[in-house]
Amino acid sequence: MTTIRLVQGDITRESVDAIVNAANSSLLGGGGVDGAIHRRGGSAILSECRELRASRYGKGLPTGQAVATTAGDLDARWVIHTVGPVWSASEDRSDLLASCYRESLRIADELGARSVAFPAISTGIYGWPMDDGARIAVATVRAARTSVEEVRFVLFDQRAYEVFEEQVG
Ligand code: ADP
Repeated sequence: MTTIRLVQGDITRESVDAIVNAANSSLLGGGGVDGAIHRRGGSAILSECRELRASRYGKGLPTGQAVATTAGDLDARWVIHTVGPVWSASEDRSDLLASCYRESLRIADELGARSVAFPAISTGIYGWPMDDGARIAVATVRAARTSVEEVRFVLFDQRAYEVFEEQVG
């Protein structure tokens, strides 16, 4: 049974087994959560990301997939990088967003992580509406078969926190 917890704040301040990064497919850093994770986590994360680009993910990490690296100086054992879809009004990309949560939990299970912190994937630079992003996040985690005991959604601002609170009920 997985417990869902909500926290308002900066995900890079969390103490958990794995912190999920809303990465982009280059795996080489970006804005938002991605920038914050690399800034606070230090260069060890970026070097592992570069190695992944040089080996398994020459063309980048595909949208909806996830891969783990060290968490560097963060208070976690791993960072799980996943690439959310960019919001589209004309095309339904919900399955890809759900896949980010599912695949991240699958990687967490492979690693033996018991606690995992997620940001609201795709709801920043990628433009996904927060209420729909929260609905997909909560429903996907609830439906997942995982050994992860605690999923912590870490919401940057109060509005995001309240939207998630409504979904969790
Ligand atoms: P994406 O490109 O997938 O949209 P972003 O990092 O731009 O990813 O944003 C995803 C969500 O994370 C947004 O709701 C944003 O407000 C939030 N966010 C940005 N920085 C942080 C942080 N340090 N900790 C937690 N959430 C954050």
